[in-house]
Amino acid sequence: MGRILTVFSILALLGAANAAQKPGPRVFISVDMEGIWGVVAGSQTSSDSPEYGPARKWMAEDVNAVIAGLFEAGAAEVVVNDSHGSMRNIIADQLDPRASLISGSPKPLSMMQGIDSTFDACVFVGYHARAGTAAATLDHTISGGTIRSIRINGQELPELGINGAIAGYFKVPVIMLSGDTATCEQARAILGQEIVAVPVKEAVVRYAAKLYPMDEARKALREGAKAALAKRSGIAPFRLSPPCKFEVEFNNSGQAEMPLLVPGVKRTGTRSVGFSADDFLEGFKEMRALIALASA
Ligand SMILES: [Zn+2]
Repeated sequence: MGRILTVFSILALLGAANAAQKPGPRVFISVDMEGIWGVVAGSQTSSDSPEYGPARKWMAEDVNAVIAGLFEAGAAEVVVNDSHGSMRNIIADQLDPRASLISGSPKPLSMMQGIDSTFDACVFVGYHARAGTAAATLDHTISGGTIRSIRINGQELPELGINGAIAGYFKVPVIMLSGDTATCEQARAILGQEIVAVPVKEAVVRYAAKLYPMDEARKALREGAKAALAKRSGIAPFRLSPPCKFEVEFNNSGQAEMPLLVPGVKRTGTRSVGFSADDFLEGFKEMRALIALASA
């Protein structure tokens, strides 16, 4: 009995610690892998390759530089969502112990799992350019083997735009992004010039890049995060106005066949399908289901 009471008291204490929110902004980070410093090839982002080990360590180091800057700027809480592949890339004890980590997959909101309207700012670390960008490190949109392009309300969007619109759905601004120079350019063009875009490398071609000096890149990430959080009130959330018209172009016509079995989904081209959603988040989930059907 005594032991049970002790367990209950510890749980109560933990609950109290969670409930007593520290003052200051709460920040959500989504971290992908292709735009991490040091990464230039697909083998570095695949868990079955011997080259994967160092890359997942660099992933933690890029995020940790950002986390350090955010806490320096007064963040009360930082939540990191591992957003690449299996979503178990960051080795938990390599992450700054002040931050929470959402690890594993699948997750309903995928790369944006964990975000809601209680956050004050969102940061994208290690992001990459949309499918068909030249030159950009490992450019693709969600799934290189399946998707040629994604358009929402007529605008072709990379992952930073789709995920930025999820943050915007909750009225949270994307204050900072890191990746290669091409991705930084797309972030400014889509999410707005006010975003702090920090390049850590410059693509030569799809599978080769000039990596910026490591210490300078990490310093830029830390200072960028600090500056971004300080000016967060001047950065507008990226919001798409409903109804949202989704159009997914697949790599081949066969991939469009299974998605066409879903009610409300129409063919918009030989290898593309489209549908409309009154609620952006519902539309995002439907789009994910269609992509899963296309890859089945
Ligand atoms: Zn990725």
